[in-house]
Amino acid sequence: MGQHYDSLKLRLAEAQDLRRASAVLGWDQETYMPEKGVDERSEQLSTLGRLAHETFTSPATGKLLREAAKEEDVQKNRVKSAVVRVNQYDYTLSKKIPADFVAQMSKAQSQGTTAWARARKENNFPAFAPYLKKNVENARRVADYLGWTDHPYDALLNSYERGAKTAEVRAVFAGLREQLVPLVKAITANASRVSDAPVNGKFPKAAQEEFARLAAKQIGYDFSRGQLSYTNHPFCTTFGHDDVRITSRADETFFNTMFFGVLHESGHAMYEQGVSKVWARTGLDDGTSMAVHESQSRMWENQVGRSREFWQWAYPILQTHMPQFKKVKQENFYKAINKVEPSLIRVEADEVTYSLHIMIRFEMEIALIEGSLKTKDVPEAWNAKYHEYLGITPPNDAQGCLQDIHWSSGLMGYFPTYALGSILSAQLFETAEKKHPGLRQEFAQGKFDTLLAWLNKNVHEPGRSLTPGELIQKATGRPLDVAPYMAYLTSKYGDIYGL
Ligand code: ZN
Repeated sequence: MGQHYDSLKLRLAEAQDLRRASAVLGWDQETYMPEKGVDERSEQLSTLGRLAHETFTSPATGKLLREAAKEEDVQKNRVKSAVVRVNQYDYTLSKKIPADFVAQMSKAQSQGTTAWARARKENNFPAFAPYLKKNVENARRVADYLGWTDHPYDALLNSYERGAKTAEVRAVFAGLREQLVPLVKAITANASRVSDAPVNGKFPKAAQEEFARLAAKQIGYDFSRGQLSYTNHPFCTTFGHDDVRITSRADETFFNTMFFGVLHESGHAMYEQGVSKVWARTGLDDGTSMAVHESQSRMWENQVGRSREFWQWAYPILQTHMPQFKKVKQENFYKAINKVEPSLIRVEADEVTYSLHIMIRFEMEIALIEGSLKTKDVPEAWNAKYHEYLGITPPNDAQGCLQDIHWSSGLMGYFPTYALGSILSAQLFETAEKKHPGLRQEFAQGKFDTLLAWLNKNVHEPGRSLTPGELIQKATGRPLDVAPYMAYLTSKYGDIYGL
């Protein structure tokens, strides 16, 4: 009785332990490892990665999955049946790409990343172009291995956002763009109404960290099961149900970098900390998709952290941590953290223009995969789109098509999830607020547990047992919808910019 399931569970736990151990090594590499440790660390990571892959994809795992699926107590049990179902899906997917191709591809990706870093530094796109061409070819082959019917990009998208379709994302983005471009124009015409002078200045790192920690703790990031350390590129990483870490970086001349970075990563971490413990070490103990993950980080960063109500609670505390804010009116501070300005760099973009950066990348990826855009023509296409969507032209490729690491490391199909996450964050927040109309007033009191409890129940607890599509439908009663996001942006920025 249940004997195959028990054996399966042990095997899945082993594979997950190996992945989590890799995460620990990866986190250490980015935080505390001395620079010279990098060569051996790469070997260690590659060994653990291989062992995890072998454990999970072995024929023995396949047999256990098939046998366990037949067991009566598995079929009748919600948790056990989900564990078998989701792992069966992962298993089938992972078997589709031949091992020798995976090895060839990861080599191309690691060479691509090195070439990209140099090309960006030297502002030399042609030096990177052959590596990009190889990565595009490989991505196209991956799509063919995984299989697709309507568009090869569907297969790539599906790796990050299960069930998402290129045509649907295209339609969502088209609707968004139609409304965003005029909004950005109207804001730009009123640009003088908002100054970001208050958030530029001198902000000691220690004071920034202390205040960011205080806010993260208050919104519900559990530090007894988490930790904050410093890196160049902030991220969140999970070692287990009770150990979810975040990293950040501080800019002593700009307030937003550390504070909103910490809120953003705390949003990711609170998702992982909120996944029910029943999924621990099953492979379902994770966020269900990149977009759902990003909806959580963006909600805490923007809907909460950049709201007027949040600062009714937080501003007096900030003023005691950084006394220079005593001279700045709360309303001017609120406007400063919400300044909108078309800019060249995606990761520094504000809430309103951010999705436009994503659409540019999404359209270019599709064109690359289709073959209608040649890699050598990428800079020209990039600059034309920045001019069309944001009204600005990059002065060079380092600040243009070479700015992101994604294409160099073979990530294609990933970018759209950032914008989908922003859209979803508004849809989820709108639903939570309908259920709890006093939510914003609670923020003004420093109370965030009503929102967190709603997210725990409707978004976090299911882990990967629901697909993103199922989760969105269940939590909000409808599929992904761009309307709440546009309503949120229009009302908030209409107020700030007096439109
Ligand atoms: Zn994020």
